[in-house]
Amino acid sequence: MTISYEKFDLKEVINASGRMTILGVSKVSENVLAAQRFGGEHFFEMSDLSVKTGAYLAQLLNVEDAQIVSSASAGIAQSVAALIGQGDLYHVYHPYTKKITKREIIVPKGHNVDYGTPVEVMVTQGGGQVVEAGYANMCSPEHVAMMITEETAALLYIKSHHTVQKSMLTVAEMAKVAQEHQLPLIVDAAAEEDLFKYVVAGADLVIYSGAKAIEGPSAGLVVGKKEYIEWIRLQAKGLGRAMKIGKDNILGFTQAVEDYLKNGSESGDSMKDRLTPFVEAIDQISDLSAKIVQDGAGRDIYRASVSVHGKKSAKEVIQELKDQNPAVYTREYQANNGIIEFDIRSVNQSEMEKIIKRLKEIM
Ligand SMILES: *Cc1c(COP(=O)(O)O)cnc(C)c1O
Repeated sequence: MTISYEKFDLKEVINASGRMTILGVSKVSENVLAAQRFGGEHFFEMSDLSVKTGAYLAQLLNVEDAQIVSSASAGIAQSVAALIGQGDLYHVYHPYTKKITKREIIVPKGHNVDYGTPVEVMVTQGGGQVVEAGYANMCSPEHVAMMITEETAALLYIKSHHTVQKSMLTVAEMAKVAQEHQLPLIVDAAAEEDLFKYVVAGADLVIYSGAKAIEGPSAGLVVGKKEYIEWIRLQAKGLGRAMKIGKDNILGFTQAVEDYLKNGSESGDSMKDRLTPFVEAIDQISDLSAKIVQDGAGRDIYRASVSVHGKKSAKEVIQELKDQNPAVYTREYQANNGIIEFDIRSVNQSEMEKIIKRLKEIM
């Protein structure tokens, strides 16, 4: 029996919510699938594959070195372990030993968030101990500097829409504090689109998630200083083993980065073009009115904003969209205001037609 939704009695899912881990994040391209298939069908000297794909990506990204890991979360845990152990083999085999006391990882308090998993859990898994700097609503370079002690192993900056944005120091400011105290700075840029700017801003290690902006298979990427990347690679003999990534995804992800650098992500103009007929069709449905809106944070992302009038509430419509097969997932942040948002970055033409058909049935 060939693979299908039916084989495991699964619902088909149309993802009009954006890049969501609970739905599998993103679809990969034919190009990436071909690379994954080559990986699946061949053998490699695995350490060679790891080092050489890393070197290939390092060249593309203009950094000293790079290492593909299984997820951005694995990147956080292994970066923390690497900077605590500093290449020491005793540490690799005894990652949580009491003989090593320099384990503090300083994080701005407003960055100690839950992105689906708390940042702190990944730091702890790497053997680190989170020390928060500043306050819930503010963190300055001075707040970070005053938390540095003999036990500080590294500084960690989370660049994300999940974090507090106001009155927070920048990556460059945090890098300056790190340099002044000769400490390494890790930047978690898991979902960020720019694969260059945080190293340029002074970060020593920068972490990306494979399936978010890059739209690759399940993977993570750590780029930065050669010595630190070597220490990360060493974790494969220790706690990194539980975070192993397969040869298929190493090759698929490498291809995805190359494609992403060449093509970028879909432009806002292209989204608007694809949205226009979709919004016009929804606007014809009784008790619905639709328009195109830009992302609230001002990013080059456009979505369909659909107001629900009449007897059914937006929340009821959202639930009914999810209940059927295919299940349609939307952005629900504005449901209390009677608005459903459709993010079409991962939705194709035929899926848009299915959404319109479902909305007609529901209304
Ligand atoms: C998604 C995310 C992660 C985790 O990425 P995975 O590849 O799913 O482990 C880490 N940090 C931030 C800020 C994220 O948004």
